[in-house]
Amino acid sequence: MNFDIPHELQMIQHTVESYVKKELRPLEKQIEEDDHIAKELDLALRKKAVAVGLYGHNLPENLGGGGVSTLGQALIGEELGRTTMALASTVGYLPGSLRFTNESQRPWFLDPILQAEKIVAYAVTEPDAGSDFGRVTTSAKRENGRWRLNGTKQYISNAESADFILVVAVTDPTAPLRSRFTMFIVDTTSPGYSYVRTFKKMGWRGHPLGVFVLEDCWLDDHHVLGEVGGGFAAVMSTINATRVHLSGRYIGMANVLMEMALDYAAQRVTSGVPLSQHQSLQFMLADSDVEKNAARLLMFMAAQEADAGNPHARISAAQCKLYGSEMVGRVADRVVQIFGGAGFVSDLPIERMYRDARAFRIGEGTSEILRIQIARNLLG
Ligand SMILES: Cc1cc2nc3c(=O)[nH]c(=O)nc-3n(C[C@H](O)[C@H](O)[C@H](O)COP(=O)(O)OP(=O)(O)OC[C@H]3O[C@@H](n4cnc5c(N)ncnc54)[C@H](O)[C@@H]3O)c2cc1C
Repeated sequence: MNFDIPHELQMIQHTVESYVKKELRPLEKQIEEDDHIAKELDLALRKKAVAVGLYGHNLPENLGGGGVSTLGQALIGEELGRTTMALASTVGYLPGSLRFTNESQRPWFLDPILQAEKIVAYAVTEPDAGSDFGRVTTSAKRENGRWRLNGTKQYISNAESADFILVVAVTDPTAPLRSRFTMFIVDTTSPGYSYVRTFKKMGWRGHPLGVFVLEDCWLDDHHVLGEVGGGFAAVMSTINATRVHLSGRYIGMANVLMEMALDYAAQRVTSGVPLSQHQSLQFMLADSDVEKNAARLLMFMAAQEADAGNPHARISAAQCKLYGSEMVGRVADRVVQIFGGAGFVSDLPIERMYRDARAFRIGEGTSEILRIQIARNLLG
């Protein structure tokens, strides 16, 4: 494996690093306290990300995206992991399914998204269907040349502020999984769309997870994203890159935690010596360092395999997402311990990271589903 980072990716990494430091981190405390980003601020931040060329970096260049490789997306993820999930999402890692946009959909749909004039969300999960895609029941029935959608979606990131939502619905209930679903573009001002509520939650403050209902929401053929029957493929097509990108975020968060822990351990004195002199805490730091590096190696492996078109990337992406998400939880736990009471109170962002890290084991493939995928591959 080659761990050299190409020069152009190093440049992007530096851009994101300074952007996060200058534009996003100063807003963390307020957004954490408010548990909300006003839509005007959200759009203003997204427009700043457009201006620095980061918005939509994961989409293909021929559609107006940044065309950044999977390795590049992972490295951007590492820098975004240094801030909150709410603020990181304004930088514009957009749903990969947008790559199925056709020419006629660009002017009214994709272009305003890429210009940060409109916000897009992505909805698969339902009250009875999370890990088990096959249980999705939101239906899209063909009637009189149009599509009639009915169903409920939940835990949808940014549905609260979205102008468009990519909705996965059943179009052929008798078909096998691969051709049962279609992805639709739902305009949230459409009759039949209602936003129900935003959940209160453990972490990710300011990053809303919402529920919405579709009741006889009529759509036309131009609202189909990709092929009729191609919904499953659309979801799966970029899931590996997304998992690699997310593992970058976990490493980024672990980097912040470790930097804070090393500083604190050098300064704080107990029993006449700095904390860093206590072997019990040294072991915590050592274990965290080893695990963080292991996560990064898995991330590099998955990114390189994905960029080389190696089919094993599917498993490596599951491995780096699984290991990275659990690694940062362990690191956050140890760092809370190293800080003692200072790790538990909200003056420092450590307790925030401890809470935020917990969701990493749930979204984009739970740890259990990833283990099943890895084990099935082993067992043939
Ligand atoms: C922060 C956050 C953001 C999210 N954003 C979005 C979004 O934007 N769009 C969207 O569509 N969804 C989103 N989700 C939803 C997310 O994808 C689901 O929560 C996830 O797929 C798990 O589904 P579930 O919550 O219904 O849990 P379930 O599927 O009910 O699983 C419950 C538990 O059982 C385990 N389990 C399930 N099946 C098996 C099995 N076969 N074998 C062993 N264990 C099993 C799971 O691993 C889990 O531990 C988000 C979730 C979170 C937490």
